[in-house]
Amino acid sequence: MLNNSDMFCSFCGKSQAEVRRLVASPNGGSFICNTCVDICREIMSEEKRPMCTKLSLPVPCEIKAKLDEFIIGQDSAKRAMAVAVYNHYKRVNYNLERGKKSDKVELDKSNILLIGPTGSGKTLLAKSLAKVLDVPFAHVDATTLTEAGYVGDDVESILTRLLHSAEFNLSKAETGIIYIDEIDKIAKKAESRNLTRDVSGEGVQQALLKILEGTVASVPPNGGRKHPHQENISINTANILFICGGSFVKLEEIVAERKNKRNVGFNSKSEQASIGQNYKFVKDAAPDDLVKFGLIPEFVGRLPVVVGLDSLDKAALIDILTLPKNCITEQFKTLLSIDGAELYFEDSAITAVAEKAIKLNTGARGLRTILEEAMLEIMFTAPSDKTISKIIIDEDCILNKAKPKVIKQTHSGIEQKSTKIVQNA
Ligand code: ADP
Repeated sequence: MLNNSDMFCSFCGKSQAEVRRLVASPNGGSFICNTCVDICREIMSEEKRPMCTKLSLPVPCEIKAKLDEFIIGQDSAKRAMAVAVYNHYKRVNYNLERGKKSDKVELDKSNILLIGPTGSGKTLLAKSLAKVLDVPFAHVDATTLTEAGYVGDDVESILTRLLHSAEFNLSKAETGIIYIDEIDKIAKKAESRNLTRDVSGEGVQQALLKILEGTVASVPPNGGRKHPHQENISINTANILFICGGSFVKLEEIVAERKNKRNVGFNSKSEQASIGQNYKFVKDAAPDDLVKFGLIPEFVGRLPVVVGLDSLDKAALIDILTLPKNCITEQFKTLLSIDGAELYFEDSAITAVAEKAIKLNTGARGLRTILEEAMLEIMFTAPSDKTISKIIIDEDCILNKAKPKVIKQTHSGIEQKSTKIVQNA
């Protein structure tokens, strides 16, 4: 029988007195201490960590065709995004195959900057790409981010969101897509304006640089601030695609001004009139214009692909209301069909919704608000009135808040279409 003083860790040589616990082997001939067990566990978990697997990658025209199912218009943006995303994942696959072979060219990362008016489909585009490629997706608002040490979310918190979206599958998260919205709101402002805000905007840009470029960040699994006693997860951002988006309202003027300086003939009335209205010139934004807007040069450098979105016109808004698989009108129809009523939108109503949305100036975002408002009353009454078989929304409902027409079933159960029983709800 061995005395306590005779027992040593066979790995580090420490005695029983120097460690918290010693575990004996089954034959009692050797021992391992608690510290060495922890070290072994760490080594094993590093080895167990799965390698990123190659993605099966659709080609750009296939990506674009899929995007067409969800997104109306924005043709050039969809093309540009399809190419950029294809190149990104081609690079991911290539670098995975290349491994550590230094004789082969290393492909650099190209994150994307989306510029377009509010409600033109920037978020939808980023989200749809993740769906098409079947990769995890996280959406964050740049205005909620702060530099480490300030009140708000650390920039690393965006990685926690991606990890959650990947259901903690680390290798999947490491090839996901992160969309950072409202990136224009963290631009530096002109020096004459509020200085405190400027500093934090620039600070967040600085803090984002590393993760945009590719780094191994350690993130708390449940979000929030890092805690010294908490186990953090190491996540490599080298293959994560960052898409930043913003409306960059004054950028139009900066680009136009630069072009104007170079080309005197540009000053025609029609071109002047469109400045600030239709994002025509934003597509020509050069890195210098973005720096002038307030992005720091290093940040601009990490977003080499700039894609512009058009503002949506009436025809596009009408299509958005009626064409996509999950379009808003179909969603309302489905909701009411559950209560046994058939919902019908007259063409004039759809046009009126689109025209009203244009006046709101919030792109397609206004469509749902307008329809929700027009539908509220009938959504309130229809579930409790089982005699309603059909609801008709016309232009008057949208423009003047008139009650929708309803067709009710007679006692015999036969639907009557005479104008007499078409009555206001
Ligand atoms: P942004 O990010 O540019 O402000 P979003 O992508 O959030 O705009 O769009 C808001 C909503 O409007 C989306 O959920 C979608 O329903 C609709 N929408 C916007 N643009 C389009 C589009 N081009 N095609 C189809 N739906 C769109």
